[in-house]
Amino acid sequence: MIFDDNERIITSDFTEEDSQIEYGLRPRHLDEYTGQDKVKSNLEVYIKAALDRHEALDHVLLYGPPGLGKTTLAGVIANEMGVNIRITSGPAIEKAGDLAAILTNLSANDILFIDEIHRMSRTVEEILYPAMEDYALDIIIGKGPSAKSIRLDLPKFTLIGATTRAGLLTAPLRDRFGVMARLELYTSDELITIVKRSAGLLDVEIDEDGARAIADRSRGTPRIANRLLKRVRDFAEVKFGGKITKEVADEALRMMDIDDKGLDMTDRRMITCMIQSFRGGPVGLETIAASIGEEPNTIEDVYEPYLMQIGFLSRTPRGRIVTRAGYEHFGFEFTE
Ligand code: ADP
Repeated sequence: MIFDDNERIITSDFTEEDSQIEYGLRPRHLDEYTGQDKVKSNLEVYIKAALDRHEALDHVLLYGPPGLGKTTLAGVIANEMGVNIRITSGPAIEKAGDLAAILTNLSANDILFIDEIHRMSRTVEEILYPAMEDYALDIIIGKGPSAKSIRLDLPKFTLIGATTRAGLLTAPLRDRFGVMARLELYTSDELITIVKRSAGLLDVEIDEDGARAIADRSRGTPRIANRLLKRVRDFAEVKFGGKITKEVADEALRMMDIDDKGLDMTDRRMITCMIQSFRGGPVGLETIAASIGEEPNTIEDVYEPYLMQIGFLSRTPRGRIVTRAGYEHFGFEFTE
């Protein structure tokens, strides 16, 4: 089986295939939401306080690499608060009027979730400032000297914004969030729990080592874990009578060209290029991006966090460096 770059299995971006599997696998309550303990325990306190006061929760900004559970967590918060959630995304809100329409249709304490909030246009963003701060909408009527501004009251609502990096937001928008929560890559044990839970929901038999084999190749990302589980399940059903063991998972993942750390050819190309063309660094992000034909943002959001977590790459003020472990994993000799 050959996968080209357009078909990366271990991409953490949302794909068509995910929409079918993710729907049923998303945890709905905090106690089903594995990991992110610090974020969860803080949110628990804020949610309880808001419920006790019968008020809307403060605005929340969730940030972290794609596929870590930002959308899921927003849904969990809505469930725990017992309110409705309206889901949209920065690029989907084209005009200021689109956002005004969404805001005026909210009910008291509802949640508005805006994914990729950093991609909202400036004019749309400016509507959000008074909406977040004063629960008000400023509307300009007419043009030129006779134009008048009127203020409409909005219901008290909670905005939950999601972005890959908090630094991508403008300062005035960032300042208006009362809660900022950074989601971290998941540990192997947390991913094992997620894989086993998903296997249960998909009605697939899996043992502990089978779950570990999938978890360890999921780049700390639940979205990838669920996707790999689904691929391995197909393989197990067709070739091995259905049960997922370590042997079945190893064999299936090897055929997908994913190595034992969950790295694929793009990681390999990036590290190899840094070693062969730049003596392992330090090399700047833009230079790496241009050399391997990827977007700098994609490298920063998708590849780097995991390569840094497993200690193959480090970041210095002068650029990125491949570590000894990185050299050795890809079969290069490390010289000081
Ligand atoms: P993001 O919005 O950060 O890109 P999502 O919330 O869409 O990520 O999560 C991707 C998938 O991963 C979800 O469909 C869900 O099944 C799974 N998932 C995410 N976080 C968790 C978690 N903490 N526990 C269990 N499953 C999770």
